[in-house]
Amino acid sequence: MKHLVIAGGGFAGVRLARKLRKQKDLKITLVNDSEDFRYSPALYRAATGFKVGAARIPLEWMLIDVENTNVIYKKVEKINPTRKMMTLDDGTTLDFDYAVCALGMVTTYFNIEGIADHSFGVKSVQEILELKQHIHNTVATNAHKRQNYVVIGAGPTGVEVAATLGLYVQSVMKKHKIKDFRAEVFLVEAGPRILPQMSEKASKLAEKELTKRGVKVLTNTIVNAETSLRLKTSGGSIATQNVIWTAGAMNNPFFQNNKQHFKFNNRGKVHVNKHLQSHGSVYVAGDNADTRFSGLALTAIRHANYISKDIKARMARKPRHAYEDPYPTQVVPIGKISILQYRGLTLGGTYMNIVRRVADLVGYKDVLGLLKALTIWQNTDHFEDESCNFCQK
Ligand SMILES: Cc1cc2nc3c(=O)[nH]c(=O)nc-3n(C[C@H](O)[C@H](O)[C@H](O)COP(=O)(O)OP(=O)(O)OC[C@H]3O[C@@H](n4cnc5c(N)ncnc54)[C@H](O)[C@@H]3O)c2cc1C
Repeated sequence: MKHLVIAGGGFAGVRLARKLRKQKDLKITLVNDSEDFRYSPALYRAATGFKVGAARIPLEWMLIDVENTNVIYKKVEKINPTRKMMTLDDGTTLDFDYAVCALGMVTTYFNIEGIADHSFGVKSVQEILELKQHIHNTVATNAHKRQNYVVIGAGPTGVEVAATLGLYVQSVMKKHKIKDFRAEVFLVEAGPRILPQMSEKASKLAEKELTKRGVKVLTNTIVNAETSLRLKTSGGSIATQNVIWTAGAMNNPFFQNNKQHFKFNNRGKVHVNKHLQSHGSVYVAGDNADTRFSGLALTAIRHANYISKDIKARMARKPRHAYEDPYPTQVVPIGKISILQYRGLTLGGTYMNIVRRVADLVGYKDVLGLLKALTIWQNTDHFEDESCNFCQK
């Protein structure tokens, strides 16, 4: 019986455990630092009023039908590829035949003064619940006033948050019968265009849609500092206590903490060979790996699919094939429309929302199996507002 240790229960880790669930001669230990899986594509929606359950899913439930996997809720701290051993934060060690590191990214504030102290994040469920409560309170306790909400970073997450924030504000106003509250939403981007990873056509479509929804898009604007009352940028300062930081992500510190064992690219991602290995016994997957399209859930799923095949081939002593790095399809929802991009093709419109819905179902299915995926997916469009203190009273 071989032992596979998967460090990280995100898209790559959970998908891999599911793909290998019928491998009777393989024992799997999955180590994750929390009891929940984070379905990040739904995080921004949870921050703006939709069901949190679509973004936070108990790992135990996800893997209930995966009999050869034991889940440990601990933090992985060290790895020794030569001795084939991982060490957890309580000092426990795990010996492995194969290991997969898929630990995701963490937030960075690029040392910009005040941002870490005063801004809200959208990268974890804890962060989004705080943000949701805060937005709710700014509206419910500020009737007849005006608030500026500033989203920093115009990647897909920033664009999606900026587009949906106004809708959430309106829903709280309606609930509290507030008529003349005024919300200004700003989207601040250091580069010359929004959605910089996508085509120029996608950027233009997105900007047009955001402007239509009243969002003020500020490109070529560098954030210099934040105080408890203002955001200071290269284009001037904005009075606000509502800053949402979506701009910075860096590789998980686990790799730098074990840097003697890894090689890195200039963005801190880990070099892998054509089999996604950093060493004979160790694979690196998902956002951590230096492959062309890492940084997307779809890529993490593809890494896991590949590693599952590679481990099976190695165990059966069959020929191994190199990882192929196919172009991903990206679908970014922006308020009432979605924009799809595949290679040079960019399509936008309300009909693309159907593609995004289908993409979400496939995303859930990849990590949950079809039946469990359907129970979550059918509720993803439902609104909830448990953060309303006033209504609760
Ligand atoms: C807000 C947001 C929205 C996004 N939207 C989209 C989208 O719409 N489409 C898309 O394709 N991609 C999207 N992404 C990117 C996508 O979420 C990532 O590419 C994907 O999650 C990467 O999968 P992963 O398995 O590498 O890491 P993750 O899914 O991040 O999983 C890593 C896991 O490791 C755990 N972990 C971390 N450190 C340790 C440790 N030391 N020990 C044990 N466990 C640890 C984490 O808690 C986590 O459970 C989004 C990302 C964010 C932040």
